[in-house]
Amino acid sequence: LVSRESKGQNSLVKVKDVVIGGDDIVVIAGPCAVENREQLLTAARMVRQAGAVVLRGGAFKPRTSPYSFQGLEEEGLKLLAEASAETGLVTVTEIIDEASLELALEYVDIIQVGARNMQNFRLLRAVGRSGKPVLLKRGLSATIEEWLMAAEYVVSEGNENVVLCERGIRTYEIATRNTLDLSAVPVVKGQSHLPVIVDPSHATGERKLVAPMARAAVAAGADGLLIEVHPEPDKALSDGPQSLTPEDFSSLMAELRKVATAV
Ligand code: PEP
Ligand code: MN
Repeated sequence: LVSRESKGQNSLVKVKDVVIGGDDIVVIAGPCAVENREQLLTAARMVRQAGAVVLRGGAFKPRTSPYSFQGLEEEGLKLLAEASAETGLVTVTEIIDEASLELALEYVDIIQVGARNMQNFRLLRAVGRSGKPVLLKRGLSATIEEWLMAAEYVVSEGNENVVLCERGIRTYEIATRNTLDLSAVPVVKGQSHLPVIVDPSHATGERKLVAPMARAAVAAGADGLLIEVHPEPDKALSDGPQSLTPEDFSSLMAELRKVATAV
């Protein structure tokens, strides 16, 4: 169902007034985690001002250590809904199991399945049954075929609103957090009709590498970007080192407009 053979035209995923997979580069931005009301609302206002159309923020955080901040859960979802009501931004949040999915469905517009759950097949089916637009990240060490099969699980339940997100894969290279596989963009576009976006934040793990990789992703044909932005990255409860300041994000948005016109 997700293959290029099954559908020649590119799929458009529509969420309220946002269209992913069309002519415009869709930028999703916001903090790694929703931390408190002020942090989220400040981030939402600033990313919207800079041109983002989707607000991200994790309320259920799949952290490597059980002692790290795990997210505000339902309180975080409520803050996302409040930020959306104020700014008009569409929202996306990660779910980590069926219980968090049920809650997220009440409050946000797009459901994110993170790298760690890309092959949680029952969860993929549940997300498929929900009918909500889905942002499906590539697994930590997933091949493109495995990633597309994960998308197939969602679509096979009757939910065609899937956006794929390349977020870097594990390789032997440790100079960056992950290795951004930019060739995945044209490869996936050749093999599937689904939109593909790129997350240079989790791919690189380092603030100064985010802008060059974001520009490269747009040049490579990505339909959008997912970028972590925090009002005060040094105080972030998760992923501070890769989070852009609102000022950095604003300049990046201006650079992206140039790349988009040039390609
Ligand atoms: C995230 O988007 O905050 C996240 C945890 O991403 P990933 O699943 O790509 O690691
Ligand atoms: Mn993060």
